[in-house]
Amino acid sequence: MEFQGKSVVVTGAGKGIGRATAKLLAERGAQVVAVTRTKEDLDSLESETGCRSIVVDLADAVATREAARAAIPADYLVNCAGTTALDPFLDVSSETFDLIYAVNTRAPMILAQEYARDRVRRGLPGAIVNVSSVSSFIGFTDHAAYCASKGALDALTRVMANELGRYGIRVNAINPTVTLTPMAAKAWSDADKSARMLSRIPVGRFADPEDVAEVILYLLSDRASMLNGLAMPVDGGFMIN
Ligand code: NDP
Repeated sequence: MEFQGKSVVVTGAGKGIGRATAKLLAERGAQVVAVTRTKEDLDSLESETGCRSIVVDLADAVATREAARAAIPADYLVNCAGTTALDPFLDVSSETFDLIYAVNTRAPMILAQEYARDRVRRGLPGAIVNVSSVSSFIGFTDHAAYCASKGALDALTRVMANELGRYGIRVNAINPTVTLTPMAAKAWSDADKSARMLSRIPVGRFADPEDVAEVILYLLSDRASMLNGLAMPVDGGFMIN
C-alpha cells in the first residue's frame, strides 16, 4: 500500500494505460482523480476503484484548465491521455496537427501548471509522469503529428524537470513501445507493419498496459527520488536494436 493516503490525478484514465495506472494506484492505496472524455468509462472505473471523476475534452484549453483546477490539490500527476491519427506527411492537415498537439502536449502542460503552482504555493514536493512514446525518438511512417507531439512533450518534460526540480517536484517522461490498448489497435492494425515492429523488440512481445503502469508508479514513488528529467523507454529493448 505504497500510495496509502496519497491522491493522484490520472488523465486518460478511461482506457488503456491510463486505466491500468488508475487501477494499480487504487490497489496500492491511492485516491485517484480520473480525468477523461467518455463518461461511461469513468462510471465503470468509479465503481471498480472508488475514484473521483472529471469529464473533459482535453483538446479544449479553457475546459482543460477548469478540469485541472477541479482535480487539485493532489500529491502526484500522471499525464496519460493521448490521441493519434495516421496520415502520410504530405497529407497531414493543420487541423489534425493542432488537435494532436493540443491533446498530447498542451493539455499535459496545463495540467502540470495547475498541479505544480498549487504544490509550490504550499511548499510541498511532488512528482509528475508524462506518458510520451518511442515515437518521440523514431520517425515512424504516417505518424508525423504524433511523433512531433511526443518529441515536444519530452522537451517540455526536461524544462519542467529543471524548473520544478528546484521546488522538489520531479518530472519524468516514459516512452512505451506498442502497448496493447485501443490506441494500438488503431495505430498498428496493419499486420505487416506490426510484425516488423515486433521483430525489433528483443523480449519478443508488445507491452501490456500493466507493464507501463508499474513504471509510472515507480517514477511517482520516493524510490525514484533521484530520477528527474528522463525520457525513459519502456520498450523491451526496442531502442537498442
Ligand atoms: P487509449 O486510446 O487506449 O486511451 C487513451 C485515453 O485517453 C482514453 O481514455 C481517451 O478517452 C483519453 N483521451 C483521448 N483523447 C482525449 C481528449 N481529447 N480528452 C480527454 N481524454 C482523451 O490509449 P493508450 O492507453 O494506448 O495511450 C495512453 C498514452 O500512452 C497516450 O499518451 C499514448 O500516446 C501513449 N502511448 C501509447 C502506446 C500504445 O501503443 N498504446 C505506445 C506509446 C505511447 P476516449 O476514449 O474518450 O477518447
